Amino acid sequence: MEDFIDFRSDTVTKPTPEMRQAMANAIVGDDVFGDDPTVIELQEYAAQLLGKEAALFVPSGCFGNQCSIFTHVQKGNEIILANECHIVQYEAGAASIISNAQLRCIDTSQTGGLLTAKQVESLIRKTDWIVYPKTGLISVEQPTSQGKVYPLETLKEIYEVAQKYNIKVHMDGARIFNAATYLKVEAKEIAKYCDSVMLCLSKGLCAPVGSLIVGTKEFIQKATYSRKMMGGGLRQVGVLAAPGLLALKEQTKHLGKDLEVIIRLAKNLKTLPFVEIDDSNIQINMIFFSIKNPEIKSNDLVQYLLEHKIKFGGASSEGVYRVITHFYTREKEVDYLYETLKTYLSKFQN
Ligand SMILES: *Cc1c(COP(=O)(O)O)cnc(C)c1O
Repeated sequence: MEDFIDFRSDTVTKPTPEMRQAMANAIVGDDVFGDDPTVIELQEYAAQLLGKEAALFVPSGCFGNQCSIFTHVQKGNEIILANECHIVQYEAGAASIISNAQLRCIDTSQTGGLLTAKQVESLIRKTDWIVYPKTGLISVEQPTSQGKVYPLETLKEIYEVAQKYNIKVHMDGARIFNAATYLKVEAKEIAKYCDSVMLCLSKGLCAPVGSLIVGTKEFIQKATYSRKMMGGGLRQVGVLAAPGLLALKEQTKHLGKDLEVIIRLAKNLKTLPFVEIDDSNIQINMIFFSIKNPEIKSNDLVQYLLEHKIKFGGASSEGVYRVITHFYTREKEVDYLYETLKTYLSKFQN
């Protein structure tokens, strides 16, 4: 269906034909007045799916995380989270600007972004001595930006520590349904170990725009106020809620296939010359590999793939390539990537 096969991210997914149809037919109203029936339906459906009291549609994942943080914390509070997480690395420093929060980062470079309850507990401010900032929030990413999924047990332990000190837990669950697919549980079994969750409709779930935050009625009420303040109160947004409903009802069913496809790709990549990849424990639709040959330059490789109708992200400063599969990349597409890479890499063999 696409001219190019795009492995850069699952955010590149375009809406399905059913989604476009649903957008055209959506019943809408002014959502700032609470009058959009499709938005209300989406929010109620999401809340029930995540086992929470209420949900709120927000324009993006960053917006949802920042709106949640803004709602949870006071100025000057500390947020305990992984140094490698999205909120620290890829949200333009927003927590410091919008919420005036201080990020207390735990080095998770060796654990794929996963925190432990012990680490979290050690950083919680336990006395109210006037020199200390107060711990305002703990934030976990499920799955992590490095493609790792927390076992439910670890989430439970972190949540218990948080409750012991009366601190709220936010979950950046941009791809929470990928985590649920891997763990073979319903998303609400994950969400029950936190107070708020942000989830994305527009990554592997193919909706064109939008994310949701879920939590208690009280939290969502406050967050609605935060969202307005941040400029995220939208009007006839049912046109976006309609594909969002299909994202949750239909597209979540395909995530198991996304995982199978990326595992197939990883196994194939492992056989290629110079490629170093750990294919032993792939948990979501994301893999990382490096190419152990200094003659092979990231820019040249990306250019070559582009000439073969493949969009591919360049290597990071550490020389790591990331590949993501999604609804529009199936066996045929990953096999084509493998064959194309094979042809390119074999040029460097003597
Ligand atoms: C993509 C992503 C976000 C942000 O979503 P946007 O819609 O791109 O703003 C937040 N957290 C994680 C883990 C993500 O992967």
